[in-house]
Amino acid sequence: MKGERETTVEGQVLLGGDLEIRPARLVLRGGRIVSVEDLSLAPDLWILPALFNAHTHLGDTVAMDIPVEGSLEEVVTPPHGLKHRILEGTPRDRLVAGMRASLETMERGGTGGCMDFREGGPDGVAALRTAAEGLSLRPVILGREGGEHAGDGIGISSARDVADLERQVAETRRAGKLVAFHAGERDPDDVDAALSFQPDLLVHCTHATRSQIRSIADSAIPVAVCPRANWRLGVARDPDHPPLSRMAASGCTLFLGTDNVMVTQPDLWREMEFTATVYGLPPRQVLAAAIAGAGFSGGNPFIAPDGPARLVVVDPGRSGLTFSRDPVATLVKRVSAGDIRETFLFSP
Ligand SMILES: [Zn+2]
Repeated sequence: MKGERETTVEGQVLLGGDLEIRPARLVLRGGRIVSVEDLSLAPDLWILPALFNAHTHLGDTVAMDIPVEGSLEEVVTPPHGLKHRILEGTPRDRLVAGMRASLETMERGGTGGCMDFREGGPDGVAALRTAAEGLSLRPVILGREGGEHAGDGIGISSARDVADLERQVAETRRAGKLVAFHAGERDPDDVDAALSFQPDLLVHCTHATRSQIRSIADSAIPVAVCPRANWRLGVARDPDHPPLSRMAASGCTLFLGTDNVMVTQPDLWREMEFTATVYGLPPRQVLAAAIAGAGFSGGNPFIAPDGPARLVVVDPGRSGLTFSRDPVATLVKRVSAGDIRETFLFSP
């Protein structure tokens, strides 16, 4: 979408990285926010930045809610885990249709981008590109087994799973692409190795130790946490895993992801509600974690003059939410995809 025609949108706008709420009018033109004008009165519509799902595996949509038993290793670890056997046995058109269905659902729910760990080498990356054709939601695709060259970078399942890691990471870096690792999902033992590569993103850190959290914060490496998937896959059973409060207090940058579509719906509204309820983080911090990963797609993830016009307009009247005394808390704890009145998802 180019969006050459000028459009205005008025409401209670969550502005900047602080998500400070103010009555305002946004003027959109050429896919950008050309001005932010303060108003004394504005309609009771809540205007927030588009969400960004910082960790998905869209390919396993085709294994949705398959009865799962066994350890993390038996279920999702390559190359012989259940999901990898299912992916290998799935015809390409069904795989593409599954990913397309999840992408469309995310887009309708106000998610403007995601970062996907794509299995299946270069063909796997190509299949996700096909699935995303014509959508406004453009996934950032991290491949493996050669898929890193076709995609936007490499998504490593664990530093302990991959032989030849140094070469793969060095080649990816030379190509100017992203490096991300799953780390600390079932124990802390693969976190230090991942950290030694100074990746662009760590995923999970469910069992990161205090000193690892310190190093992550000091290196300013963002962490994509996926609390619901951790609980479903049996690697978290309490509010200290992942250690969100400690990570937040240490100054880590947190992003929210929903992980395997096989076990969790790629719905950041649900992820935010669960995270706020179980981990007790302040709603503003939870909401920021569901937005800020959009920096990986380029441009300012937040609403600001001259930023990309990537917005979600929520109508609180649809679910009796106009009584809210704190729209940010209500967005995190009560809003769902059905409350969205309109989205603007221009390219960054
Ligand atoms: Zn994952």
